[in-house]
Amino acid sequence: MTDRVVCIGECMVEMAPQTAPGDYRMGYAGDTLNTAWYLRQLLPVTDDVDYLTAVGQDAVSDGMIRFLTDAGIGTTHVMRRSDRTVGLYLIQLAQGERSFSYWRGQSAARTLAQDAKALDAALSGAAMAYFSGITMAILASDDRARLLDRLAAFRAGGGQVVFDPNLRPRLWDATDTMLQVIIQAAAVSDTVLPSFDDEAAWFGDVDPLATAARYVAAGATEVVVKNGAGPMLVQCHGDVTHVTPAPVSNVVDTTAAGDSFNAGYLAARSGGTSVAAALDEAAQVAAQVIRARGALMSLDRKALRISRSLIGASA
Ligand code: ADP
Repeated sequence: MTDRVVCIGECMVEMAPQTAPGDYRMGYAGDTLNTAWYLRQLLPVTDDVDYLTAVGQDAVSDGMIRFLTDAGIGTTHVMRRSDRTVGLYLIQLAQGERSFSYWRGQSAARTLAQDAKALDAALSGAAMAYFSGITMAILASDDRARLLDRLAAFRAGGGQVVFDPNLRPRLWDATDTMLQVIIQAAAVSDTVLPSFDDEAAWFGDVDPLATAARYVAAGATEVVVKNGAGPMLVQCHGDVTHVTPAPVSNVVDTTAAGDSFNAGYLAARSGGTSVAAALDEAAQVAAQVIRARGALMSLDRKALRISRSLIGASA
């Protein structure tokens, strides 16, 4: 049976500096988009990966839709707004250090959850919905409540809801609001995929087990706590599993480490892989991504030691 995953959030235009001063390369990125990109490479070609967002009606928005389509990501549920356009960020390099400037305050993606019927239409018949704390952060409070309500209905109807808290205090008016909304989002989710350093910083968790326990208490049944190069932890239906990722030499850029890890884990689990093997596969995916510059790359799938067949996937 064909399965469908719906990733919900914001894709932005990325301007990345090139070698010659003043030269920038235009690309696209965003946390949930990064996960959609890697899910598309890791799931069987018979599965659909859709992106749910809103963009403008201008040429830049057309370009983003073309990019998604070319990547094999479904755009049927991308809404078009005549009065807005897509968000943008620019990377500056100074003495080897990267800094980011954002123009996303009025982006079209902020309107993605204004219509319950559009959300239901996108989720109808899907197996999995994936969203993040950044998805929540960019929405007005009514829209947050609407999205969580429709995700709860999707879950009640048998869909799997997956949430990465991706804590970004700068996107929120108040830290307390962020912490409250993150727990509300976890409460409608089956699977939560936090990163321990963020969770320790903002929730004060003493160790990864405390992070997992907090999200299980909120209502999740499977919590994967990522931990950089340190041991990852999964709490699944009460069982706790630890796996330390293999050391990665030549780490170039950790952008999208967590997003690609999530895709690796979800693709493995949806193919019936055990928790421990899925952690290992997810870490292998993230390891490839952090050895390359930028968020999005073509994975070397032949180099991944995976425990299931990539049905129909081209090598
Ligand atoms: P995030 O990008 O969300 O902060 P993490 O930094 O925890 O997430 O990284 C996600 C995953 O990427 C880790 O679980 C691990 O598998 C891999 N990873 C990240 N940094 C390293 C590293 N320095 N060495 C090995 N693996 C890493």
